Amino acid sequence: MTGKLDPKIYEQAKNLLKFIDQSPSPWHAVETIENLLDNHKFEHLEENQSWSLEAGGRYYVIRDGSSIIFFVLGQIAPEESGFRIVGAHTDSPGLRLTPNTAIQNSGFAQLGVEIYGGPILATFTDKDLSLAGRVTVRTETSDLETQLINFEDPLLRLPNLAIHMNRKVNEEGLRLHKQRELALILSSLAQEEDAEKLFHGLLEQQLDTQFNEILSWELVVYDTQKGSLYGPDSEFIANGQLDNLASCHAATTALLDASALDAKTTNVCAFFDHEEIGSESAKGADGSFLPDVLERIAQSQNANPESYKRALATSFQISADMAHAYHPNFSNAYEPDHKIWVNQGPVIKINANQRYTSESISQAMFIDWCDQVDVPWQKYSHRSDIPCGSTIGPMTSARLGIRSVDVGCPMWAMHSARESAGVVDHTYMTRVLSHFFGENRT
Ligand code: ZN
Repeated sequence: MTGKLDPKIYEQAKNLLKFIDQSPSPWHAVETIENLLDNHKFEHLEENQSWSLEAGGRYYVIRDGSSIIFFVLGQIAPEESGFRIVGAHTDSPGLRLTPNTAIQNSGFAQLGVEIYGGPILATFTDKDLSLAGRVTVRTETSDLETQLINFEDPLLRLPNLAIHMNRKVNEEGLRLHKQRELALILSSLAQEEDAEKLFHGLLEQQLDTQFNEILSWELVVYDTQKGSLYGPDSEFIANGQLDNLASCHAATTALLDASALDAKTTNVCAFFDHEEIGSESAKGADGSFLPDVLERIAQSQNANPESYKRALATSFQISADMAHAYHPNFSNAYEPDHKIWVNQGPVIKINANQRYTSESISQAMFIDWCDQVDVPWQKYSHRSDIPCGSTIGPMTSARLGIRSVDVGCPMWAMHSARESAGVVDHTYMTRVLSHFFGENRT
C-alpha cells in the first residue's frame, strides 16, 4: 500500500527497508554495501597491499568485516579541494550470544546473551528472533576460515512473563534482570540431549564449508519481522536498525549518484562499527581507520606531510546519525523550543558541550546545502536536565581536525528492536547528501 506522496519517495523508503532486511548484523551491513559498490565497479583495496589510485577511480576498504570506507578520488588533488566525508555507523544495540552460550535449564536449551550497547530490552520480548553474524572454523586442511551466517527464520524467543505473575508491569514498566532474565528459549530438551551439541549442530547446518572444529563466533540476535510502511498514506516506516542503517543507506545512495561519482572533490563514505559501545577499537570511529585511509589517499596523489594537513584543513564532514523526533504522548521529554518533527526534514544536532560537532559555521553550510536543493531542515537541542547522546562526529573530527556538522533524520523509539521514522525524511537526507557530494561537479 502506498499513498499520495511522490512514488519516488516510496521507492527510496522501500529500498531502505530492503537494505536493512539484508543487513541483520554489522558484517551483513558491510556485505550489503559491498554488493552495491561491486555493481558500480568499485575496486576493493586491501590494507596490507600497496595501493595505486587514479583520479576518478572508485575504491573501498573494509576493516575487520564490519567497518567500511569507500571513496571516489576527485579530479582535483585533496590538498586543493579537501575530502568531503559522510560518516555513519553500521552497528545497532541489542543482544549478542556469549562464548559458552548454550544453557541446559529445566528441560530447555537456552542461549545466554550479553547486552551490546543500550537497547530498550523490553522490546526484545515476544519477538520472532533469529541469529546472524560470523563464525570462524578450523578447516580440514587446518586453515582458519570465517563465514557469515544468517538463520533468517525465527529461531529464538524471549517470552514475557504473564501479567498474572507480574501484576505491576503496566505501572512500573517491564524490568528484566540483565543476568537472570534474558536467556533466550531455543528448544525443549529431552534428558539425554545436550544443549551445546544441539546449538553446534544448528551452526554446522548454516556453514557451507568443510571443517573440523568451530572455534569462535560473534552472533547478533535480531527481529525477523521485515520492514514496513505504515499510516493511511504510508508516510511512516518501521524496522529494526533505522539507527543508523538509514544514514548508511542515504549516504551510499548519495555517493552512487552520478553527480557524486563525477565530482572534482574526493568524496568519502566512512561507516564504522562499535559506535554503540563508544567507538574505541581498531575499526571504530575513535580508531585509526579513517586517518589511515585518508592519509594513504593523499600519499597516492604525492602529498607530503604538509599537503596532507592542507587537505584536512580544506575538508568537511557530515556526521549522519538519527535524531529524536517529537512524540506527542511524551511532551515533557523534549526541550520545548527544539521539538523536531517526522517528515519535516533533516535535523541539525547542536550541543554546547560538543556531544555533537555542529558549530555556527558548519550549521550554516549545511543549511545552505539544504536550501539549494529545497530540503527543509530543523534544529535540535536536548533537554538540559537529561544527558545528551553522542555519535561518531566528535571523535573523527577531533582526530583529524576537520570541520564537521552532526545531522540526522528524525525518528521515534531509538534503540527499540523496532524503530520508526518518516518516508519523506529519507528522501530529503539522500538529496542533500547527494548535493553535498556533487556540488563541485566537473
Ligand atoms: Zn546512532
